[in-house]
Amino acid sequence: MTAAPAENTTTPESAVSGPRLPETMQAVIVHGPENYQLETVAVPRPGPGEALVKVEGVGICASDLKCYHGAPKFWGDANRPAWAETEVIPGHEFVGTIVQLDDEAAQRWGVTVGDRVVAEQIVPCWKCRYCLDGKYWMCQPHDMFGFKRRTPGAMAEYMLFSKDALVHQVSADLPPAHAAFAEPLSCALHAVERADIHFDDVVVVAGCGPIGLGMIAGAKSKNPKLVIGLDMAQDKLDLALECGADLVINIGTDDAVARVKELTDGYGADVYLEGTGHPSAVGQGLNLLRKLGTYVEYSVFGSDVTVDWSIISDDKELDVRGAHLGPHCWPAAIRMIESGRLPMDKICTHQLPLADFQKGLDLVASGKESIKVSLIP
Ligand SMILES: [Zn+2]
Ligand SMILES: [Zn+2]
Repeated sequence: MTAAPAENTTTPESAVSGPRLPETMQAVIVHGPENYQLETVAVPRPGPGEALVKVEGVGICASDLKCYHGAPKFWGDANRPAWAETEVIPGHEFVGTIVQLDDEAAQRWGVTVGDRVVAEQIVPCWKCRYCLDGKYWMCQPHDMFGFKRRTPGAMAEYMLFSKDALVHQVSADLPPAHAAFAEPLSCALHAVERADIHFDDVVVVAGCGPIGLGMIAGAKSKNPKLVIGLDMAQDKLDLALECGADLVINIGTDDAVARVKELTDGYGADVYLEGTGHPSAVGQGLNLLRKLGTYVEYSVFGSDVTVDWSIISDDKELDVRGAHLGPHCWPAAIRMIESGRLPMDKICTHQLPLADFQKGLDLVASGKESIKVSLIP
């Protein structure tokens, strides 16, 4: 690095612009399941090719919650390596402003000090067979912001964007919580892409939380015959209508399978997008799909799910597809948020200071009063 710059120097290689950076910052540290603490830690210093970002907002995701509660998927069990590590700063749905970067980073990402940026959650290796094949979201040895020690997340005042990160610019006009929604929305749009929706399809989306609402908006953009939202909470169903659902079914009071069959001359839906994480939503989807229908699973489940697999084979010859992260969907997600087409004020229900992270986690855990909870460091 170069020597400390004179006042008001803002060239990228001078690294520091604006007020001098503090030595320490507040950050949430994961010590293990249900043991997250707010601590004072050193502000990270970017190495060559990296960027230091002042975090403006970070969403709390269902996967953060499952990690917090210690789901085997995240902390490892007999059959599966741990995905999350301890002593990490959580938070993977973030937006911030670049405060330091060198020429190499500026050129790679086409950004400069002061730019508003988001980065994809996965930090790929760019060397494994998946990366070389363009399937970077399946990278074998990947890092993940907020889950791996090498890539601390955004529940902190500052964070580093590592060299291999995928960085996107986002409008400075958006409220931080709205801009940070680019992550869950890109995930939802990827699930929609996996569904290969056709114009004459009846598409059912299970769950009208942040992912489900994004799936509804994405599915509607594909312009199929009908987009149907399912949930048990009436306020979420109302929001689903605002996000583009043609009709909604309250599964607490209505039989979704029977209603969908009625709407499709007894055949069933063409496409089912599952975004609830509830085991019961899996069987529901298999039952309300038509023969040769397409099932897309996006959820992260806290436990194993048991269903009758002969529905997939013998009864209906279904096409069952997984979906993970939001590859190649970030620009579309950012455009959708910037367009003002989504009721973002109603989706981003809670913004809390970093010190209230526990309240934020609890709000997401209860799932009743909130859609998207964000921390504003
Ligand atoms: Zn997320
Ligand atoms: Zn890779």
